[in-house]
Amino acid sequence: MNSDANNHEEYSLDPEDWGPLQAIGHRMVDDSVAFLRDIRERPVWKEMPLEVEAFFESGLPHEAQPIEAVYEEFLENIREYPMGNIHPRFWGWVMGNGSLTGAYADFLASVVNSNMGGGNHAPRLVEAQVINWCKEMVGFPAESSGLLTSGASMANFTALAVARNQKALIDVRKKGVGALPKTMRAYTSAEVHSCHIKAIEQLGIGSDNLQLIPVNADYEMDIEALEAAIAADKAAGMHPYCVIATAGTVNTGAFDDFEAIAAICQREGLWMHVDGAFGALLALLPQHQEQIKGMALADSICFDMHKWLYMPFEIAVVLVKDSQAHRDSFALVPVYLEQNLRGVGAGTLWYSDYGLQLSRGFRALKVWMSVKELGIDHYAKCIEMNIQQARYLGELIAAEAHLETVAPIPLNIVCFRYVEDGLSEEALNQLNRELLLRLHESGEAVPTYTTLNGRYCLRAAISNARSRFEDFDHLVAVVLKIGAEIAPNYRAL
Ligand SMILES: *Cc1c(COP(=O)(O)O)cnc(C)c1O
Repeated sequence: MNSDANNHEEYSLDPEDWGPLQAIGHRMVDDSVAFLRDIRERPVWKEMPLEVEAFFESGLPHEAQPIEAVYEEFLENIREYPMGNIHPRFWGWVMGNGSLTGAYADFLASVVNSNMGGGNHAPRLVEAQVINWCKEMVGFPAESSGLLTSGASMANFTALAVARNQKALIDVRKKGVGALPKTMRAYTSAEVHSCHIKAIEQLGIGSDNLQLIPVNADYEMDIEALEAAIAADKAAGMHPYCVIATAGTVNTGAFDDFEAIAAICQREGLWMHVDGAFGALLALLPQHQEQIKGMALADSICFDMHKWLYMPFEIAVVLVKDSQAHRDSFALVPVYLEQNLRGVGAGTLWYSDYGLQLSRGFRALKVWMSVKELGIDHYAKCIEMNIQQARYLGELIAAEAHLETVAPIPLNIVCFRYVEDGLSEEALNQLNRELLLRLHESGEAVPTYTTLNGRYCLRAAISNARSRFEDFDHLVAVVLKIGAEIAPNYRAL
């Protein structure tokens, strides 16, 4: 605390002497570099002891504590128990690693601390440029609008809100869904990500009106079934308005037939949205254009950059071809947000007009710095490496009598299980559940899990730029070892 000449008490969050904060900042960088450099020597994941859980139960601090002590607490109780996706042998759910450059950029973004809701400042230009790069990545036209969001869940929600508002036949923003003249119906595959179901619920459409179309043996949407569902709904007096296609389903990495879906949407006047959370980035790879053929025909698309572009959480993008439709869905300009001709309130593109959030963080900087540093072609090589690693893992599995894949491997996701002759399906499910838990507890490798056609399986989603091919040899060896240890327990089932 200071006092001015008139004895006013003055407080600040800035230190009087910047030296110690500078010193601890250097230490944080040095420790972080060592931590990431040596990450391979750590377990992928480990259970937290009870003392750590207890540590987080203390109440609101009122007294000051030196930052050095707080940092020690971070090292001991937080950094020691991360989720594990920074590790080369983490293949759970679908996650990226992050990178040191990405972390530096997040730090620098917080130092600048601009609000990306609107206003006239360079960080806004960075977001605009990153969105333009995203259009280039997936082949969307330059006139499209876009928004960086926390993740694909929010990006999908944003696109689905535009689709609903655009196709509602009434001004649904004003009148609400209660005024809809007909029941609105959306269509997607049974393999759709759950975030769409949540979005359709929150948009007032109701999840009963999101028709889950069956998939074929390759887990792709059955196009004939889609056409039949649309025709049946029309005949029943309902209002089909949207098809959600997926580029890279979360269970198995399947790609819907975008060309066929686009043709149906054009013919029927439906909005076509593509959830390309990770799969859309195949667009960067010339050798995989067949899988994404027709993807850019969509009215809107979204993809994550914290998955297969390996950025630190959180960052995704939504792109909408009809920028006016996008703006019409979210723009609402009260007097205190009027856009001026000059000054800090100038600028015609305010991101608050394109999504739900007003205040927004400067998440664009990590993409901007990282992609400049390495070039997008380097990212494409990492993606291709992950695809090759999935194939490699598939080959390792095929060579083992006690392992089998339970789905095709169209991309970077490998679903497999431990098997033994004479065990029932139920016994195999229980065995593989236990095997996976033991694998996690071993800290050796972290795939996660799913259930396909009633078969519980281990699921390795490879979007990890730290993985080496030998890491998959290790995974197979450990799975076989644990499987052999526990299999006798399941023979009686
Ligand atoms: C991960 C994922 C999502 C959700 O993305 P978040 O970034 O976790 O919000 C949506 N769709 C698919 C296909 C995904 O893989």
